[in-house]
Amino acid sequence: MDFDTIIIGAGAAGMMCAAHSAGRTLVLDHAKAAGEKIRISGGGRCNFTNLGASHANFISQNAHFCKSALSRYTQWDFLDLIAKYEIAWHEKTLGQLFCDGSAKQIVAMLLEEMKRTGAELWLNASVKKVDHDGVAYRLSVLRDGKRVDLSARNLVLASGGKSIPKMGATGFAYDIARQFGLNLTDIRPALVPLTFSDQRYMAISGVSAPSRVSANGTTFEEATLFTHRGLSGPAILQASSYWRDGDPVVLDIDPNGTLFEALRTARQTQGKKDITTVLTQSYPARLVQHLSEEIGIGGRIGDQSDRALQELCDKLRNWSQVPTGSEGYRTAEVTLGGIDTDHVSSKTMEAKARKGLYVIGEAIDVTGWLGGYNFQWAWSSGWAAGTAISATLN
Ligand SMILES: Cc1cc2nc3c(=O)[nH]c(=O)nc-3n(C[C@H](O)[C@H](O)[C@H](O)COP(=O)(O)OP(=O)(O)OC[C@H]3O[C@@H](n4cnc5c(N)ncnc54)[C@H](O)[C@@H]3O)c2cc1C
Repeated sequence: MDFDTIIIGAGAAGMMCAAHSAGRTLVLDHAKAAGEKIRISGGGRCNFTNLGASHANFISQNAHFCKSALSRYTQWDFLDLIAKYEIAWHEKTLGQLFCDGSAKQIVAMLLEEMKRTGAELWLNASVKKVDHDGVAYRLSVLRDGKRVDLSARNLVLASGGKSIPKMGATGFAYDIARQFGLNLTDIRPALVPLTFSDQRYMAISGVSAPSRVSANGTTFEEATLFTHRGLSGPAILQASSYWRDGDPVVLDIDPNGTLFEALRTARQTQGKKDITTVLTQSYPARLVQHLSEEIGIGGRIGDQSDRALQELCDKLRNWSQVPTGSEGYRTAEVTLGGIDTDHVSSKTMEAKARKGLYVIGEAIDVTGWLGGYNFQWAWSSGWAAGTAISATLN
């Protein structure tokens, strides 16, 4: 046996797993550098976890699956690790924790932790074929253009999902899982901007507004950004994970519900002004211009009845539209769905019917909200598999 454990993918989950594995461990990645998504995440500062992370922030066909790993390796455990490396951090908003400095500090920390366990890292190494001969997993690998045959008792699929193919994302974990009899759930791009074929927001591209956005009964209150191709911003990215083709997204751009009273007051104090001018006290002028054309707002505010003002507010609070699609895997932060959790132990991440085959990170059907949750899942699931593998080797 060449290795006790081979981990395919030197991303967040694979490196975390290697940092907790015992025995001879090899981490393989076809990229030139480890942890590339960590490096670019959070605008280069990596939103590495969330203070409020719990199973409620994840989407999966089995809502209970992620509980075990998340409760055994928590955001506080990751913060302890960060503290050990003296990486400074801050809370930005809604419990989201970012590095004060660079996301590269997180990558360097994980590489150092891997070194501590003696794990080897091969970059520019592409796995061509995987088999199992009854005793070991056998891998045919192209390393720096040369073919190398390897064997290992344990194989960890940590090669992520399909989001951002330009960064090396492949459906590789899905193919290998299928080869070994594991089912896949439907997959689709998530945490992704939504688009309209008519480019209706071209004129207000770059404008953002506080909002509450709902898709399929789930609501997020954060900003919406209008783009030349459609809708983006944190509220839309969150809602995109719940949105399905043909469904409406419903925007409430008066999320505090204060507009009606503000307009009634303005009717008393600024009665001669046009209502669109009054609205620019609450919204960017370009958005008001767009709204005035789309829903026909106009006239002196002093002439508006309570009923007319209420109707306007109702429209702004229930602005329903059906996107044509999304920006797809090209820009999606994550892949929704993946390897079916029914086939995997929630405690060890090992495939129930395939001894020695482990699945972690984004490849599995556990998808976090925006806000550091996806990295927390990578840390927790990587830790669960790494410590379980260690236990079998000791
Ligand atoms: C732009 C962007 C920003 C993000 N920001 C955040 C954030 O701030 N906070 C957060 O929580 N989440 C964020 N995410 C999501 C987060 O990056 C992922 O959920 C997380 O990286 C998943 O970890 P993973 O280890 O499962 O997969 P990955 O990190 O994707 O790692 C998979 C690794 O496998 C390698 N690989 C793929 N196929 C093969 C193959 N066939 N052979 C060998 N190697 C292969 C890849 O090169 C990669 O290194 C962001 C995602 C993107 C795209």
